[in-house]
Amino acid sequence: MWPSTVWSSEGLDATNARATALRSDQFYGRYANPTVSQFEYAVAALEGAESAVAFGSGMGALASVVLALCGSGSHIVAQDSLYGGTYSFLEGPCRRFGIDVTFVDAKVPGALTSAVVPGKTMLVIAETPSNPCLELVDLEELGAIRGPFTLVDSTLGTPLGQQPLRHGVDLVLHSATKGIGGHNDAMIGVVAGEKDLIDAVWQYAVLHGASASPYDAHNALRGIKTLDVRTTRQAASALSLATSLSRHPAVSAVHYPFLESHAQHDLARKQMRNGGSVLSFDLRGGITHARALIDSLTLARPATSFGGPETLVCHPATSTHVGMPPDLLSRIGITNGLIRVSVGLEHYDDILNDLVKTLG
Ligand SMILES: *Cc1c(COP(=O)(O)O)cnc(C)c1O
Repeated sequence: MWPSTVWSSEGLDATNARATALRSDQFYGRYANPTVSQFEYAVAALEGAESAVAFGSGMGALASVVLALCGSGSHIVAQDSLYGGTYSFLEGPCRRFGIDVTFVDAKVPGALTSAVVPGKTMLVIAETPSNPCLELVDLEELGAIRGPFTLVDSTLGTPLGQQPLRHGVDLVLHSATKGIGGHNDAMIGVVAGEKDLIDAVWQYAVLHGASASPYDAHNALRGIKTLDVRTTRQAASALSLATSLSRHPAVSAVHYPFLESHAQHDLARKQMRNGGSVLSFDLRGGITHARALIDSLTLARPATSFGGPETLVCHPATSTHVGMPPDLLSRIGITNGLIRVSVGLEHYDDILNDLVKTLG
């Protein structure tokens, strides 16, 4: 690991060469860092991308891409079922900077494509599977959009579950704080795509300053070594849990892409290799049952985030998505009875028992 923020060089000409090179990784830490570069190479390889650039968080990645590619007068088309932070960034700062955002129900075929305004739309943003309701976006349809850049937040999919770039999408983004890092000890984001586009994002990112830390890149690289075994086990447990919960009388709905009852199950089987480690379910008893369930947990922990070794349970309506307007929350299925589960590495029976013991 290289914790350095600065490197010495021999004389003015060598310094000048480093100061003006693209992505010079032995000049000054905000420009690039060799440990962070190793993480970027690994993610690019996993995504089948030419290049990648890392950031200090998933939101650092998202904000930098949007501000690198858009300006006052630009138009963005975005899915309405999104991570709360992404939604708030598009709805707040973007609008304040004169960037016009149209939100659409992206699981409706053709909805993203028909919201594109030729010559004005700069970026189309999708999140599949979406957090926390596990809605999917058809990657083939998104990849076929011409004109604006297309971006997929693939955090819930992980690079082993799906590869958006193979479907023609321009940029794939991860909050590697989640499954890629995988141990709840690295805050880091990353974007991958064609070299020229990533270089352009980097040129802005150096000024934005949301640079990834080499310590976090080091932990995220350690996470990648076990990504396959972790996601294989977590996805298998998640599917078993989703199946059991869907048969429970206290549960009115379960959201998990590989569950046959998922409205987009065929699409899930077509574009995903596994259903991922996150599921959500709706309790008939609403907030009362949600509170009782969360208060009773002895194995799973009440916490946000996902993709780590420990099972985490959260109540999106009062935490991760608390900033969304009520009509949008109900449109995208974030009810007061909705519980999101990040399935960990514990035994599946123990996780299930912990979740259903108060439900009767
Ligand atoms: C967590 C998350 C983000 C934001 O990532 P941070 O690393 O917390 O900044 C973005 N998108 C999705 C889907 C997420 O789950």
